[in-house]
Formats: sequence, C-alpha cells, structure tokens
Amino acid sequence: MTPEEQEDEQFYRDTESIAFPKLDDHQLSLLEPLGERRVMKRGDVLFKAGQRDIGLAIVLRGELDAFETRDGIEYNLATARERDFLGDVSMLQGTSILGSSRVTSDEAEILHIPAAELRRALAEIPAVSKTIVDALIMRRRRLSRDREFAGMRVLANRDARDGHQLDDFLDKNRIPHRLIDFESEQGQALGKRLHLTSRDLPALITPAGAPLRKPSLREVAQVAGLLRPLAFENETEIMSDLAIVGAGPAGLAAAVYAASEGLRTVVLESYAPGGQAGSSSLIENFFGFPTGVSGGDLTWLAQLQAYRFGAKFSTPAQALSLHYDGADEYPSCLQVDGCGAVLRAKSVLIATGAHYRRLEAEGCEQFEGMGVYYAATALEGQICRGATVIVAGSGNSAGQAAMFLSDGAAKVLLVIRGADLSKISTYLSRRVEAKENIEILFHTQVRKMSGGKLVEEAELENTATGERRVVRTPAIFSMIGADPCTEWLPGEIERDEKGFIKTGSDVADSPAWKESERQPGPLETSLSGVFAAGDVRSGSVKRCAAAVGEGGMAIAGVQIALAASARN
Ligand SMILES: Cc1cc2nc3c(=O)[nH]c(=O)nc-3n(C[C@H](O)[C@H](O)[C@H](O)COP(=O)(O)OP(=O)(O)OC[C@H]3O[C@@H](n4cnc5c(N)ncnc54)[C@H](O)[C@@H]3O)c2cc1C
Repeated sequence: MTPEEQEDEQFYRDTESIAFPKLDDHQLSLLEPLGERRVMKRGDVLFKAGQRDIGLAIVLRGELDAFETRDGIEYNLATARERDFLGDVSMLQGTSILGSSRVTSDEAEILHIPAAELRRALAEIPAVSKTIVDALIMRRRRLSRDREFAGMRVLANRDARDGHQLDDFLDKNRIPHRLIDFESEQGQALGKRLHLTSRDLPALITPAGAPLRKPSLREVAQVAGLLRPLAFENETEIMSDLAIVGAGPAGLAAAVYAASEGLRTVVLESYAPGGQAGSSSLIENFFGFPTGVSGGDLTWLAQLQAYRFGAKFSTPAQALSLHYDGADEYPSCLQVDGCGAVLRAKSVLIATGAHYRRLEAEGCEQFEGMGVYYAATALEGQICRGATVIVAGSGNSAGQAAMFLSDGAAKVLLVIRGADLSKISTYLSRRVEAKENIEILFHTQVRKMSGGKLVEEAELENTATGERRVVRTPAIFSMIGADPCTEWLPGEIERDEKGFIKTGSDVADSPAWKESERQPGPLETSLSGVFAAGDVRSGSVKRCAAAVGEGGMAIAGVQIALAASARN
C-alpha cells in the first residue's frame, strides 16, 4: 500500500462513525412526524442518479444499497441498514444526486422525509440537525477523496480552455467530477462507447450516463441542479424580503444571518458561490483557523449553513439591472439573466465584489495564491523573506507594497509599464526611490510565470528595447487595480471616482435621503433599503473577514429599513 493509500485508509476509518451514524430512538421520534413510512420490496429503486430535491430516507427495517453506475457497471458506495439514513449533501443543497439506491433485502421499510421538511428539521431541531449535517458533509469529503468515484465526467482535450472552464465551474460549485483527457486510454474508450468525436468536446457525462456535447455553463448548471428556477412556470414576479446579489464571503454571511432571522432571502450568483475567497487555496488570516483554511471549504460550509436556514440560491444567475421605485412596497426590481420573471425585493444587498485586474502574463491564473498575490500583508512578507520579489503596478498600493516588502526581501523589483512614478504620491515615491533594495524597472511588463506548484520564475520584458530577462522569485504582487462589479447598477446608486459604491454618511446628502426622516445606515446606499457590503463598497477593507463582518452587519441595517418602511 502506498503512503497515500495508507493515509486514505486511516481517514476512512477515523471518519466512519461521523459519516454513517445510527439514529437513536429520540431522534427517530422527532423525525417520524415529518415523514411517511413506506414498505419496499427487493430490487425496488428508492432514488435514481440525477434526481433532485428527494429528501432523506431512514431505514427502519431491511437493507438498501447506494451505488454509482459507470459505463454499465454498478459500484457500491454504501449499504444502509436499520437506523442508517441514505443521503448526501446534494439533498441539503437541492442539487442533483450522484448515485442511485435500491432495496437489497427481501423487504425494507423506510421513513421518507420530503426535502422541504428535511430543511425545516435541520433548521429547527438541533437534536437531529448536527448528526445529519455532519454526516452529509463528511460523506461528501469521503467521496471527494475516493479515487474510484467519478460523479460527473468531463471529457476534453488536454489543455483545451473550454474543457478547463467546465472543470473549474464544477469545481468551484463543489460538484464531484473527473476531468478525463480525450487522448488517454480511458478517454478514447469513453469516447468510443458514447460515440463522441473531438468535434463534440468538451462533453459532460452525467451520473445517469448521458453525454452532453459542448454544453454551455447554464446547461451544466441545469444538469447539476445548481440552476434552480426562481419562479414557477407562468409566474412573472418573484417576491422576496431580501435579494442578495453576489455570493462571495459578504453575500454568504448576509444569507446566513438573513435566512436565520426568517427573511425570505434569494441569493443570485453569476458564477459560483465563494467569490474571490473561493479561489484562495489557503486563507491564513481568517480568525479561528490557526493553521489557515481553504477559501473553498470556508465558503462552501457557509453556503450549506445558508441553505440549512432556507436561503434560496440560483447559479449561474447574474443580476442584469436594478430598477427602483421608492413608492412601492417592493421597491427594487431585478432582472436576472436567463429568468423570465422579475425578482421584486423589499431590500437588496449588493455584494458583487471586485475583479482584481489580472496581469496579462502567461501562467498568471494558474499561480494565483501560489506565488501571485493581490495583497502584501505580513503573511506574504514572510514568503518573501530573503528573496527577490516582483511588485507590478504604478499606483500607491504598488508603492506601499514595495516599501513594506523591502524590509524583509533581499530585493524588490518594482515593475512599471510607463515611464515614471507620477501616479504614486510624492512622499511615497521619494521613499521608494531612496530605498536601496528596491529597483524600479520602467517600461517593463511581466510576460510569463513558471514553476511547479508554486511560482519559481518570472520573465520580464522591457517594452522599449524588447529585451527579456528571467528572474527567480517566489512571489509576484499584482497591484494594477481592481474594478468593482457595478456596471449593472442604475446611476442613482452613487459611486466614488473608482466606481465603488458609497454608503452611510457619504450618501447622507443624496436626493433620496434629503427627503427622508431617517439617516442612511452605515452600509446603506443612496437608495433607501439598498445596501452594499464587502469589496464592492467604497472604503471597505479588501479582506475576507471584513467582507463577512459587513455581510452580517448589513442584515441589521436591512431589519431597520424593513421596520421603517412597514411603519410608513
Ligand atoms: C487569490 C486571492 C486570494 C485572497 N486571499 C486572501 C486572504 O488570504 N485573506 C483575506 O482576508 N483576503 C484574501 N483575498 C481577498 C478576499 O477574498 C476578498 O476580500 C473577499 O472575497 C471579498 O468578498 P466579497 O463577498 O465582497 O466579494 P467577492 O469575493 O468578490 O464575491 C463577489 C461575488 O459576486 C458575484 N457577482 C459579481 N457580479 C454579479 C452579478 N451582477 N450578479 C450576480 N453575482 C455577481 C461574483 O461572481 C462573486 O462570486 C484574496 C483574494 C484573491 C483573489
């Protein structure tokens, strides 16, 4: 057995009792009124891969198997006996289930709890929710580690951009899947079996075994069950107390607080919950995690928490516009990409974050968080100790980062596209010029990054002479600015000169507030009942914990705004 296999074995042993707990009499008595007993015969199918919102099945008598069907062969995932329950995180999220289950004893009796009742129980009955939620999460962790399990399969040509995008989309949305190279033996066999040629790639093979040729992200989201219709058929309007736009740390924190306080909460996310934090492999400065936490894990758990309290998510669902009529009980009307109905909300939280401008250098995306950084804190400072590091940018943030890093690094190369330091404040540019271990490279751009898992080298080009040089470095700081995701908002929502949304005292003099009896809350925008939190907000601290804090704080403001409008 290889050391990795031994580690896996140990992991499976250690987590067995969490993943597969037996429900006790008390827990069964609490769950019994929420479900319905059903007697089934050998061979009867309880759930089929691809189904959604199926609820939870508790085995009262007999035996059932959960299995995955791959290329016509069934692979056992688990066997459930008396007091066990069949389920996976997808039941909590409402996404499509990845396996099927069938009765394997002569007869079995189950207690079936519908999805809506299950969610209510998980929010309201602590005596059962901890056992069930911990088990569902642990099952997913075990499944992700399982080298045999496939889930969804993406068949693509190696290095094909569209194949990698599909892989990334499923990854960030936490849908278990495998990326299979079409040229590999396995890929060729799969292609042959499903009659797929390279013209059909990338292809998605669903857990039910059906291939989707060149699917759009919407189609993938549909199959995975991520794209939930916000409206019923023929419905033209969806009513909510709060619409949260953006499911990064700020939006997710707000969703947890709002849903737990009983607000009808709809969360719109244009790509994948988690936002920027979701692509951070290790957040080391988030409080409570002394050895750091993966941004993906942190935001996934937050998402499950929000689901558990009843927040409604739809992905991908991009807010396209916001129309505001202060006289209406539901003043905000949001148009959502791909949704025929209008989302009407009593209050709105804009948590759409910002896009850090990416260096146009080969390999940049691959090394994000692994040598390419967007902030220079003490943490990054440690990585740079004694090394040569690169700071790209010509504004104050680049100047500050260069100064800060120069204290520990052997050398800082400040890479500037233009010909001078005129965008940096005079006092700062003087300090930068005076610091002996900062070298300023004008007319220079980073062209390429390379290395193993972490960045090891960067190639710089002097655009005036065309000369290129390779620098050995563990860190490249991209300080070329961030663009707030606010292009879809109406002009009445005031923004600062860089496009970030103004809130609180900064908007107290705006036309809407001048006529109001109350003052805007600290995170309230120039429109009453419309809030902004996280990176998209002018003056916010661009950090995960700050975004989470603002998301929670915004809900206190939402409650005040709702109470005020109910009085009027
Ligand atoms: C690689 C990387 C590493 C980082 N590491 C750290 C770290 O170690 N520590 C730390 O404190 N901070 C770190 N940060 C910063 C931190 O992640 C951000 O400050 C934080 O994610 C901001 O949260 P947010 O919710 O405000 O916005 P975001 O995380 O940007 O989330 C906004 C969300 O809104 C969605 N969205 C945008 N427009 C729309 C629309 N019109 N409709 C619907 N949805 C929309 C986006 O898809 C996105 O999911 C890192 C950032 C990056 C990029």
